[in-house]
Amino acid sequence: KWHSVPLAPPDSIFKLTAAYKDDPFPQKINLGVGAYRDDDNKPWVLPVVKKATERLLTDPELDHEYLPITGLPSFTSAAARLILGPDSPAIKRGHVTSVQTISGTGANHLGGLFLSRFYKWSNEKKIYLSDPTWVNHFAIFRNVGIEPLTYPYYDPKTIGLAFDLFLETLSNLPERSVIVLHACAHNPTGVDPTREQWAQIAELFLKKGHYAFFDCAYQGFASGDLDNDAWAVREFVKKEVPLLVCQSFAKNAGLYGERIGALHVVAPTDEAAARVKSQLSVLSRSEISNPPAHGARLVSLILNDAELFADWKRDISTMANRIIDMRKELYRLLTDELKTPGNWDHIVNQIGMFSFTGITPEQSQALTEKAHIYLTQNGRISMAGLNSHNIRYFAESLDKAVRG
Ligand code: PMP
Repeated sequence: KWHSVPLAPPDSIFKLTAAYKDDPFPQKINLGVGAYRDDDNKPWVLPVVKKATERLLTDPELDHEYLPITGLPSFTSAAARLILGPDSPAIKRGHVTSVQTISGTGANHLGGLFLSRFYKWSNEKKIYLSDPTWVNHFAIFRNVGIEPLTYPYYDPKTIGLAFDLFLETLSNLPERSVIVLHACAHNPTGVDPTREQWAQIAELFLKKGHYAFFDCAYQGFASGDLDNDAWAVREFVKKEVPLLVCQSFAKNAGLYGERIGALHVVAPTDEAAARVKSQLSVLSRSEISNPPAHGARLVSLILNDAELFADWKRDISTMANRIIDMRKELYRLLTDELKTPGNWDHIVNQIGMFSFTGITPEQSQALTEKAHIYLTQNGRISMAGLNSHNIRYFAESLDKAVRG
């Protein structure tokens, strides 16, 4: 049976985690994981999530009815204000359509599906992704009949942004191209444009009529400040660049498994927004009927209650600051103590959960084989996998791998 089904390769991150789990070496480190870990390398349930769960469970009115097709309204409206700003004129004018999705992945999927059906494509359906990007982007867009292509983004020489080449490529694309942008904390590089660069990118989008497909999986996680991390999206909305935003609460609320996210489409008029919503509703209905309730209720409580919102901001700072501290400590160990050859400024300049170390695939392999440190071949490390107990071992192992 099923003779014609080819065997698919296992997911590379999944494979890495399995190899890490099987390794009996006591000082082993997993730097592949894309989830926050506390200083004891444990998953962290945010205290605000515990508090909100308590409130939910003691609510005598709580039932398990279906949510509306487009999601819990108190969640989607607050989620839109969170990313677009509490005083967003686009929201006030009714130009924003928001639909609850199966976390950020579901938002990317629904956004892609919607564009595939309804975007006025100038030629074939093509979407432009940063090189590199979150690998799942490729499969998500292929699944909805859109061909994924890449634009230059990361410069291995500077371990930073290839800004000129990036802009030049975007300006040479056909008008009205659809381009995916990471709103903050670019995955996998940790390299984000500066505010000045974002403003220039927005101008180019306007000039060319490009469509901005924002993927926002790390709001608050990048800098510790929710508004700061939403700056690029808000700048594009202010300049009236046509766009949508995929939003995830997996990382910033530690709700990975609850699959809670939203898709926000900013339309030119309230009437267009209503039409967009009607079609998103039809698409969502055929795929999931109704979105899951638990995560939506938790995030709705957190976003709509002043006390819980303040607690959440504190928890976000706890996570972001621990990661920033790990960056500083790794930088200090490599430069001041070990005098590791090369420039390591990028470790402190990069943003968010991941860091592109700039090491070669061979050095990365040596780290795994000789030091039991698990990371993807491209040299990306999850800063969340580092903590006060293992950072010295990691720095010393990296130093050895670089010296060869
Ligand atoms: N986009 C990017 C860039 C990501 O890094 C991730 C998480 N790895 C996601 C989207 C989606 O994650 P989730 O579906 O868990 O919200």
